[in-house]
Formats: sequence, C-alpha cells, structure tokens
Amino acid sequence: MSIDLEGRLSALSPALKGLDAMLISGLPNIRYLSGFTGSNALLLVAGGSATLLTDPRYTLQAARQTPFAVRIGKGPLGALAVDMAKRRRWKHLGVERNRISFETWEALKNALPTTCELVPVTNAVENLRMVKSAGEIALIHDSVETNSRAFRRALKSFRSGMRESELAAEIDYQARRAGAEAPAFETIVASGEHSALPHARPTDDRIAPKSVLLIDMGCFQAGYASDMTRTLFVGKAPKRFKKIYHDVLDAQLAAIDAVRPGVTAATVDSAARKWLTKAGHGPAFVHSTGHGLGLEIHEPPRIGDKGDVVLEQGFVITIEPGVYIEGWGGVRIEDTVVVTESGCEVLTPTTKELMEL
Ligand code: ZN
Ligand code: ZN
Repeated sequence: MSIDLEGRLSALSPALKGLDAMLISGLPNIRYLSGFTGSNALLLVAGGSATLLTDPRYTLQAARQTPFAVRIGKGPLGALAVDMAKRRRWKHLGVERNRISFETWEALKNALPTTCELVPVTNAVENLRMVKSAGEIALIHDSVETNSRAFRRALKSFRSGMRESELAAEIDYQARRAGAEAPAFETIVASGEHSALPHARPTDDRIAPKSVLLIDMGCFQAGYASDMTRTLFVGKAPKRFKKIYHDVLDAQLAAIDAVRPGVTAATVDSAARKWLTKAGHGPAFVHSTGHGLGLEIHEPPRIGDKGDVVLEQGFVITIEPGVYIEGWGGVRIEDTVVVTESGCEVLTPTTKELMEL
C-alpha cells in the first residue's frame, strides 16, 4: 500500500494555524505522518514539510521508511528541535498536549529562547486519524480476519478444566501463526465469576464446566489493530445466561443499527444503553459502548454517553456493550465496524450465535 504522506501533512495544516511549527511526539502519530515505525523519534512539522528526529540505531530504517529529512541525534531529541527553533527563529512551537512528557516539556521550556512560546495542541493528528483511507480499512479488515481465525483455531484446543492462562497463550500463539505481529492488548480470558470484571486478567484458575467464558482479544497486523469479544458457555447454557446473552446481543445490534454518518457517538451509545436499561441491566453496563481503533487499540472517538464527535464515513469503531453481575459473571459482545456512506459494515466475521462448548 502506498501511503499518501504528503496528503496527510496538508490535511494537518489547518490545525497548525498560528504556529510556526509543531512538534509531534506520539509515536503512532509520527508513524501516521512520516511512515517511521521506530521506538524513539520526534517529528517537526513546519511549512508543509517535516523533519524526523531520531537516534543512530535508526539511521538506516529512517532513511528507508520516510521520504522526509532525517536528523540523527545522540542525546535527548528535544535538543535537535530546540536547535531548529533557534535557527529558524520560531515564535510559536506547538506540542501535543496529551503526548508530551512533563520532562520533555520542561527541557524544551528551559532550552528555548524566551521569544519562542510552547503552545499545547489537543488531538490534532488523532482527529485526522479518525477517518481511515480505503487502504487503512483494508489493513484493519485483514487484522480483524486474522483475529477471528485465531479465535476459531484456539477454541479447537479448548477442553473443560484447562487454565485461563493456557487458553490465553493458545490464542496469542494462534494469532501469531495466522499473521499477527503482536497482541493488541493483553488477551482477556475470564471464566465464571471472573467475567464480571470487564478488564479481567487471565489467572491460573481452571475453566470449570457450567461456567461463563468471556474472551476479549485483538492483534496488530501491518500496524493496525483488531478487537473482538465473545462470551461463550462451557456446557449447556442455563436460562439466565441465555436471557442476559440475548439482552446484550440485542443492545449490540441496536447500537450497530444506529451507526451512520452524521450521528454523534452519544447517539450510538444511547441505543445500546436504552436497550439494556429497558431489560433491567442499566446499572450493570458500566463502561462506554465502544472506541475508535487503528494504529492504536484505543483511539478517538470514544463511543460514550458524552461523545459529541459526529461520525463520518471511514471511521472504524468497536461496538461492545456488556452486563456485569458480581458473583455471577459477565457478558460482552464486541465487533469492529466501519462507517460507510449510509450506515456501517460489520468487519468481524465470527458468529454471534450463542456458543456452547
Ligand atoms: Zn476488546
Ligand atoms: Zn474494545
């Protein structure tokens, strides 16, 4: 896939109005704008062009990955930025409010001439990243397919009595074998009462017969994330599980139905929330309905009750309502969907029929 880096830089320029330059310090943002995937870098964007600052370990890689100028520094990279700011007599240097460390901020402030002001800017690059190109959507689709394949293969080796940690390891292994670079987050395998914790960590406990089994998994492939949750039952599902499962599924389908360009994130959230409230689970739905994903597993927009972001074609978000009951367990169902011209397309191919193992 050829990435239109020039196009991304010019799309960024309205957000940089009033600034002489902007210092990008978030690595996913640097990757998005420059193509560089290393672990230590800053990117200076000024006058429609960019300069990548990194260290000698990345001399070769930087030259290969980015078409922009590269400067190699041995100490803290902020010093290179200060150097450029002085030579070009910048007066207003933007920094990423939610990405810059206090240490770097302080070092810049101390080293810059008093004539150069640091201006915190919020989500300039993140806002651009919300709209995915066709190429990015294809990469997310691949990641989602790989994730679902790994789920299917890992379940083949499931046996009642295996440990949560064993199943999590099997999932990670199958994801790597299917083409993933890494898990997108620590795989969640939560059985029985553990599933009442929305962000449970796999334990050494054995997955008992007649228990809920919640699996939340995602991977990175070619840099792009996927994210899926399925809640299964070990053995024949009792009535209560079936009821809650279908309540959550109905809420998830209602939210998916609400996704289209022009509606706010809060509208989508309330579609799921209303449904669960009507079914008597309002207080048990303790998190937001979903989140954007792309180069990061969690990125804007947040699909929550205060979400004022208006959805646009090309957004990729998760829809993942859940119900959590202490002492019993939890049910969450999560898909990755892309906003289309008139609605949305669910990318996740895994069935949402109630699965009994
Ligand atoms: Zn998830
Ligand atoms: Zn998620």
